[in-house]
Amino acid sequence: MPDSVAPPVNLLDFDLDALTAWCATLGEKRFRAVQLFRWVHQKGESDFARMSDLAKSLRDKLASTAEVRPLKILTEQASADGTIKWLFDVGGGDAVEAVFIPEDDRGTLCVSSQAGCAVGCRFCSTGHQGFSRNLSTGEILAQLWFAEHHLRQRLNTPDRVISNVVMMGMGEPLQNYSALVPALRVMLDDHGYGLSRRRVTVSTSGVVPMIERLQHDCPVALAVSLHAPTDALRDPLVPLNRKYPLAELLAACRQYLAAAPRDFITFEYCMLDGVNDSPEQARQLIALVNGQAGAPRVPCKFNLIPFNPFPASGLLRSPRERVLAFAKILQDAGIVTTVRKTRGDDIDAACGQLAGEVQDRTQVHSRLTRPDVRPVIPITAAPPVQP
Ligand code: SF4
Repeated sequence: MPDSVAPPVNLLDFDLDALTAWCATLGEKRFRAVQLFRWVHQKGESDFARMSDLAKSLRDKLASTAEVRPLKILTEQASADGTIKWLFDVGGGDAVEAVFIPEDDRGTLCVSSQAGCAVGCRFCSTGHQGFSRNLSTGEILAQLWFAEHHLRQRLNTPDRVISNVVMMGMGEPLQNYSALVPALRVMLDDHGYGLSRRRVTVSTSGVVPMIERLQHDCPVALAVSLHAPTDALRDPLVPLNRKYPLAELLAACRQYLAAAPRDFITFEYCMLDGVNDSPEQARQLIALVNGQAGAPRVPCKFNLIPFNPFPASGLLRSPRERVLAFAKILQDAGIVTTVRKTRGDDIDAACGQLAGEVQDRTQVHSRLTRPDVRPVIPITAAPPVQP
């Protein structure tokens, strides 16, 4: 019988401290780990033979023990507006997506943290697929590693292309905390991607204990998927609300700001026709964030998101006039409010849509559309056809 051979170590799994510790097991000092880290993340190099300032003996050791493991690309879709979406194979029939959104003054990459999601938000295509598994640190970073270096080649530039990362793709990042934090550290590390803390955003549906931990472990910008002004409405829209209701969530947000790189929380609010988009609900939101409804005041801005309909949701996008009227009520109360531009509509670049076509692992989609399962929110109109 041949000796079993250990699988190669994936260097994308390590932040700089972990890489330093691993290099020490090879008898190498920290400055070698820094060199290696820079080759991988700053130069996008995966061939150890080309890491010219490493000693030949180290390159040989690396070649026999380690690798930079990319994700296999299943599809790439490019929108007319410049948005690019990649669907990556993470094995076992699971796929995750990353979306690059270019703007005049920034390039944003939306990154996935899990294959599927256990939170099950009512309006989210990923939530309807159910949860498959957490991504590793290496799988989270492989999305950024690929996108950054692929885009540099494609745009023929030596300069950084991705200036902002939002952990807003598939999955609830704070339910994959132990893999998330090292990935964030690599994004922020000056020897890695060197992104500003203000330009790395973790988006959460409200995992309160992990918001508190993130504040201490790796404070970055925080976005919270709010979507409702009351617990009665948020419970069915974001089921995690039953565990961490609005008062606790807003208290955690306010506390987070003590260490956050920005002095406000971004509240994401998906505009659902006839569900959460009335003037009265806008006023309830103002009361909520201003601390008039029993919750503490939270400095914030709102990002109103036009819902991207998918048939299983049974929900519709709010008419544009209603979104603008809702925004105006918030703005008139002194709350900075933006309406998200829809990007990549022609490639379904909204969260979870393409991967949803690949797999519905837990059959949540079919369970939600069974005639004997009552929708948690009254459906007043026929589901729309996908744009
Ligand atoms: S919105 Fe986010 S947290 Fe909610 S189901 Fe979708 S991926 Fe999960």
